[in-house]
Amino acid sequence: MEHLFFLTEEEVLHVKNYYGTPIFIYDEKTMLQRAQEVLAFPHAFGFTARFAMKALPTRKILQKFHAWGLHIDASSGYEAERAIKAGIPPSHIQITAQQIPYNLKELVEQGVLYNACSLQQLKVYGEMFPGTEISVRINPGLGSGSSNRTNVGGPSASFGIWHEYLHRVYEVANEYRLKITGMHTHIGSGSDPEVWVRCAHLALETAGKMPDVRRISLGGGYKVARMSNEKTANLQEIGNRILPAFFEFEKRHGRQLHLEIEPGTYLVANAGSLLCSIIDVVDTGPTGYRFIKIDSGMTENIRPSMYGALHPLIVVPHEKDSPRNKYSYIVSGHCCESGDIFTPQQGDPESLGPRELLEAKIGDVLVVEGAGAYCSSQSCKNYNSFPECGELLRIAPFEFEWIRKPQTLEQMVQNEV
Ligand SMILES: *Cc1c(COP(=O)(O)O)cnc(C)c1O
Repeated sequence: MEHLFFLTEEEVLHVKNYYGTPIFIYDEKTMLQRAQEVLAFPHAFGFTARFAMKALPTRKILQKFHAWGLHIDASSGYEAERAIKAGIPPSHIQITAQQIPYNLKELVEQGVLYNACSLQQLKVYGEMFPGTEISVRINPGLGSGSSNRTNVGGPSASFGIWHEYLHRVYEVANEYRLKITGMHTHIGSGSDPEVWVRCAHLALETAGKMPDVRRISLGGGYKVARMSNEKTANLQEIGNRILPAFFEFEKRHGRQLHLEIEPGTYLVANAGSLLCSIIDVVDTGPTGYRFIKIDSGMTENIRPSMYGALHPLIVVPHEKDSPRNKYSYIVSGHCCESGDIFTPQQGDPESLGPRELLEAKIGDVLVVEGAGAYCSSQSCKNYNSFPECGELLRIAPFEFEWIRKPQTLEQMVQNEV
């Protein structure tokens, strides 16, 4: 059985009664601890850590990580603008995006860094800012991720410039007198540490062929254990394994590389809980299933439907009653969509994976743990016209503050004519 990560059962019931459900809660203490671990990443010649804001872009969260010393990785021009609006200095933001920002010129003029992710992006940047410095994202030829939906390196991924096309990178760079001082790789989320370390070595090899590179980013992708049978990546161990390669690089190439990493998941995944109310319990007979229905679903967390992600699920009884049994349940979301479930089969996202849970009763709370990263930010927002739910920051036990208020129906339809 899975257990609550940072809330107590009393706090869960307090939040349900006082703030309502569905609702996200983020724990400040957990985020700070994770930030400190990231900032302690072993490095040889200087270090910058970025928070990959697409994991959880709420203003207060960005401000917290900024205050704790992290910079920002933005995945679009809009994210960069959003971070600037939150008070992040433009020089602390780097854009690594699939789509060239519509506002690239203004952003770069303000000091935002740009990481060109394709030859076309490099060309556009060169036309706009000839004779300047830039960094490029390279696909090192190897990827890792928990599924083909989270793998962003290797031949099956479109992200970055294929590592064998370096000569073409320099053709474009020469045309626009660009100096390539940064090199970036990011191979996928939930990576196997072994693959991550191998990719880091491949990246250094490529950087060796890029004479002006002084800054190397090894991306994010550090695995976090959400389920009790999973394992969290050990950043100290990973960092120490690639550390010698930086000293060797200096000996061989005479360059001291500044290291960057940009975790998203690692910083917030287990700092967030989603609280839902159990609104119905049904079954499909002795040969069928028992279902828990909740007032949430893919509208708050689409990860189980999209890539079969598993989250700990905990039933918190809404009142003290006699000891309850355990049963196997399918947890169904509130959307009219059969794929809206929180219990896919492990390793087989298309099938149902009944989960052993405390007997569920209407009015109980279902807590979805490990819901800090890519849940609120990535959800199937407003499907079935459910308003976006609110987000609370937990500052101390029983001390919560709104960091995003629940959306109203009025706000949902405000641009409709
Ligand atoms: C999403 C992303 C990250 C963060 O990945 P996590 O798996 O959340 O650590 C880092 N860098 C880039 C370029 C990304 O797109």
